Amino acid sequence: MTKEELALEVIERLKKEYPEAGCTLDYDEAWKLLVSVRLAAQCTDARVNVVVEDLYAKYPDVDALAAADVDDIEEIVRPCGLGKSKARDISACMRILKEKYDGKVPRTFDELLKLPGVGRKSANLIMGDVFGQPAIVTDTHCIRLVNRIGLVDSIKEPKKVEMALWKIIPPQEGSDFCHRLVFHGRDVCTARTKPYCDKCCLADICGKYGV
Ligand code: SF4
Repeated sequence: MTKEELALEVIERLKKEYPEAGCTLDYDEAWKLLVSVRLAAQCTDARVNVVVEDLYAKYPDVDALAAADVDDIEEIVRPCGLGKSKARDISACMRILKEKYDGKVPRTFDELLKLPGVGRKSANLIMGDVFGQPAIVTDTHCIRLVNRIGLVDSIKEPKKVEMALWKIIPPQEGSDFCHRLVFHGRDVCTARTKPYCDKCCLADICGKYGV
């Protein structure tokens, strides 16, 4: 089986396994996803979802957050860890949205990448989830799973994994595929324990633990 064929088979099986898979960060406006992805660095999505409730209760829109005192943002987001740098990035980011983009989230990958605290992973997430564009989100689950499954060969650097996946994943499938990898990585192909290969829907095709 070629990597392209393997990718298509994995995509189809994960679709059946996780039909509803979507982003695990809660948001109802694009700018909120921008805030949440910054907070999610080295923090669980579940905790981010709780912390942002307090943040948005006090600062309900881009203008309010752009005008907020950075120390106050830090105080609220501290439970997510790295409070100082996350608060600084969120503040700077919201000010740029307000001043340069009329309070909106820019729609191109390159513009997103220029925002404070936004790397390729976050920019891809927003392109896929907010704008419905092709996206490959190489988070820790994605990198672990695609290596184990054999979609890439011992590549750990996020950008290199992303580039390798672009070659074998149909662009329109990328965003949902990566969300499903997160679900599968949490439930079955886990990081901290031995993966549960015995109950994995990919066991017979997985490069590392399958045939
Ligand atoms: S067979 Fe095992 S290693 Fe392969 S994807 Fe499934 S749980 Fe992960």
